[in-house]
Amino acid sequence: MLYYSTTNPNHTATLEQAVTRALAADGGLYVPQRLPRLPRAFLRNMSAMSLPELGYAIAAYALNSDVPADVLRDIVTDTLNFDIPLVRTAGGNYVLELFHGPTMAFKDVGTRFMARLLNYYRSRHPEWRMLNVLVPTSGDTGSSVANSFHDMPGVNVYVLYPRGAVPLIQRAQFASLGGNVTAVEVNGSFDDCKRLVERAFLDKELNEAMRLTSATSINYARLVPQMFYYFWAYAQLSKLKVDTDNLVFAVPCSNLGNLASGLMAQAMGLPVKRFISVENQNNIFYNYVKTGVFTPKPTQYSIAPALDAGSPTNFGRIVELLGSHENICRHIHAYSYDDNQIIETIRQTYRDEHYLLDPHSAVAYRALAEDLQPGEIGVSLATAHPAKLKSLMEGIIAEPMPMPEQLTRFINSDLHVKKMSNGFTSFKRLLLHDTLG
Ligand SMILES: *Cc1c(COP(=O)(O)O)cnc(C)c1O
Repeated sequence: MLYYSTTNPNHTATLEQAVTRALAADGGLYVPQRLPRLPRAFLRNMSAMSLPELGYAIAAYALNSDVPADVLRDIVTDTLNFDIPLVRTAGGNYVLELFHGPTMAFKDVGTRFMARLLNYYRSRHPEWRMLNVLVPTSGDTGSSVANSFHDMPGVNVYVLYPRGAVPLIQRAQFASLGGNVTAVEVNGSFDDCKRLVERAFLDKELNEAMRLTSATSINYARLVPQMFYYFWAYAQLSKLKVDTDNLVFAVPCSNLGNLASGLMAQAMGLPVKRFISVENQNNIFYNYVKTGVFTPKPTQYSIAPALDAGSPTNFGRIVELLGSHENICRHIHAYSYDDNQIIETIRQTYRDEHYLLDPHSAVAYRALAEDLQPGEIGVSLATAHPAKLKSLMEGIIAEPMPMPEQLTRFINSDLHVKKMSNGFTSFKRLLLHDTLG
């Protein structure tokens, strides 16, 4: 199967090219020419499958034998070595908890899958010597990516983060690793970090000197495994004998990668009645749905930092998948909440339903409650463990919160950080110095 660029349908690539380059040379994102439809019998049989079995089957269909079966099976099995529980809250709503991976955020599945697939391609290209993964982060992406690639031979990871804007728990999750992971503190904003990485991909001299790729959700390899969530939720509901005819998913959105994955699952035949996209005050997609005009803005910081995106990267993919603004409105209801509404939702759900939502998960939970109609079954996606924002959460619920061991083991380590201005020349010098010595 071939993949084409969102900016030019005649610009095509193989899966290997799409995944190892991440961004098309014309600046577009890669989308599959045609996703295969799953047989109906497969959907019926899913509820008997384990998570790795289901993941492998979906990946094998989606990637259309572009990766050898035994390699793909190992990649998926290695990726999914933790639970994705579907819980029912006291209020009767379903929440799919996507945060039980190594860094306790939903990106673990996407980044682990991508890391293993890139590693497979790297092993077939000794001439690349090193593969250099660049990732700008406001917190979650950096830790997830760094942990997925840590200690992988032949790979260097550069995590760029804005000074003063990433909480210590999250910073420690990538800056304590050392080895092949370099944490770069940029004296600037998250948008500056993003811009530095984008410029690096377009810089001729850098690309001749070293093999660069991106690990953000512009990389198609991140989107494939995120489809598992939606199929898995459907399979768990079927197992519980819940009627899945009118299934609605609420998704906390930032760069719209997770939402794009949901739409891909639907395109492959998963029966989904509607998606609900939910943003924080960075409500770029919400405004697009309401007005038909897509207007990126500077990123605003909020208490749900992983939702802070002023220019959602996967927007072009959403348009390719659904075709028109009208069709987008048919498939997606959009919501957006500010910090006060997020706090109110966390408090209320904790008080009334004894369920603790983190700020990212809270937006989806609230939108689902507002949007769901009688006769529909709703699942909201919970994307981060509340302890990742411990002090904020303790302030909101006015109670101390235990820290999972998984998070504390990072905090007590030394951090290795390289500090830099927000100028491209310094970044380029840092990369070239590491490569050429
Ligand atoms: C990245 C992230 C999101 C947003 O996902 P997108 O695919 O960028 O829309 C939501 N919640 C958490 C906790 C995240 O880390």
